[in-house]
Amino acid sequence: MSERYDLVVVGAGPGGTSAAYYASKAGLRTLLLDRQEFPRDKPCGDGLMPHAANEVAMMGLGDWLDEPHHGRFSGLSIFTKTAEIRQGVPPTLHGPHGYVIRREETDLKLLERAEAAGAEFLPRTRATKLLRSPAGEVTGLSAENGGPLHFAAPLVVVADGVGGFEGKMKAHQNAVARRQYFRGVDGPNKEDIQIFMTEDMNAQGAGYGWVFYLGDGRANVGAGVSTGALAKSGRNLKDYFDRFLEEPKISEWLRDAEPEGPAKSWSLKMGMWGAKTSGQGVMTVGDAASLIHPISGEGVGYAIESGRLAAAWSHEAHGRKDFSASTLSGYARQLRRRRAREHLSGHALVNLLPNMDLVEPLFKACEGNRAASRALVEAFTGDAPVYSLLKHPATFASALKGVLGNRLRG
Ligand SMILES: Cc1cc2nc3c(=O)[nH]c(=O)nc-3n(C[C@H](O)[C@H](O)[C@H](O)COP(=O)(O)OP(=O)(O)OC[C@H]3O[C@@H](n4cnc5c(N)ncnc54)[C@H](O)[C@@H]3O)c2cc1C
Repeated sequence: MSERYDLVVVGAGPGGTSAAYYASKAGLRTLLLDRQEFPRDKPCGDGLMPHAANEVAMMGLGDWLDEPHHGRFSGLSIFTKTAEIRQGVPPTLHGPHGYVIRREETDLKLLERAEAAGAEFLPRTRATKLLRSPAGEVTGLSAENGGPLHFAAPLVVVADGVGGFEGKMKAHQNAVARRQYFRGVDGPNKEDIQIFMTEDMNAQGAGYGWVFYLGDGRANVGAGVSTGALAKSGRNLKDYFDRFLEEPKISEWLRDAEPEGPAKSWSLKMGMWGAKTSGQGVMTVGDAASLIHPISGEGVGYAIESGRLAAAWSHEAHGRKDFSASTLSGYARQLRRRRAREHLSGHALVNLLPNMDLVEPLFKACEGNRAASRALVEAFTGDAPVYSLLKHPATFASALKGVLGNRLRG
């Protein structure tokens, strides 16, 4: 066994860097490792919802967020088969707006903050196994970096995204998404992020396409669908993405645009579903804990938040000199209290309905009602559970009328 640490964090995405930052600030000797070299790209929409921007600002990057080459949005435009909804985003202490910033840049900045707080970072180092005592207690981690490495620690935070290096904690992926950068996209309302619930993506499952503007003349254009939609349709993600680019509005906006670099795909673990978030000597954060919002596909803010909570529980466990499953279950409970309502209700909506086309009348009903469309946007941004729409009975009644009308016509 070589070096001894208070905490080893596997993965230097937003979840891992946040855990390492807060743990180091709390005085824990922290090792952060990643199998990749930074800066590195991560296929993403690059959108930071207001609550995510707030988390980034809490890590000392508030001024950096406002750099002019970053996209900044204050509203959402949602286009569905029959409705167009525009709404402002919910405010936070950082302000009533979100950002669009390339992950290559965001993740490097977050890593620099973790290192400045005192975390040691090892790139090109792949975690291979949790080490345990004969009694089953975590004693450290083995990894590879051209050769085998061993680190002693009583606690490990798993922040390896969809990696799943610790098989016992691995959750299933339930969506896939693909994105490409374009220069010169010409659509209206560039102060909004643009969401397209297309018929193509929602007839046999759930999905949406997006156009998110950066501040430097480029836009992040992408599409994501549930794995259920892929299974039912027998189509692949590239096919959904290519058809999204051919949607009338998108092809018009892209008429004079130039692609920059290839389209890239990645998978998503959503809705806190089936994820084990704590055990003896170990906690999972971010995508490793299935913390992507099941409706918006947004995960950066939740990854940072969960890293912050896991660091607090690491500090607590060291204070008590107790790394038992029972102590660390406090982290799992806190996470559930904070996020389960939004995530599980979104997961239920996406999975219980055979397709999202069924809720089209609800979109149409929200279009004419400011308060209901606000609730819809808050459900999308993760600021409210989807069932908060039930507080708008008139909208629901009108949506129900729409559903029944469609059924009778069909
Ligand atoms: C196409 C697409 C669009 C998206 N759009 C948005 C969006 O607009 N806004 C948003 O908030 N979220 C979005 N998401 C979700 C978001 O990208 C993730 O939720 C976020 O990256 C989670 O951060 P993380 O730290 O948990 O994991 P990651 O960012 O995936 O980081 C995990 C890290 O672990 C490392 N790693 C993996 N295995 C090992 C190992 N064995 N040893 C060492 N290191 C390892 C990897 O190299 C990686 O650096 C999108 C996702 C996709 C796929």
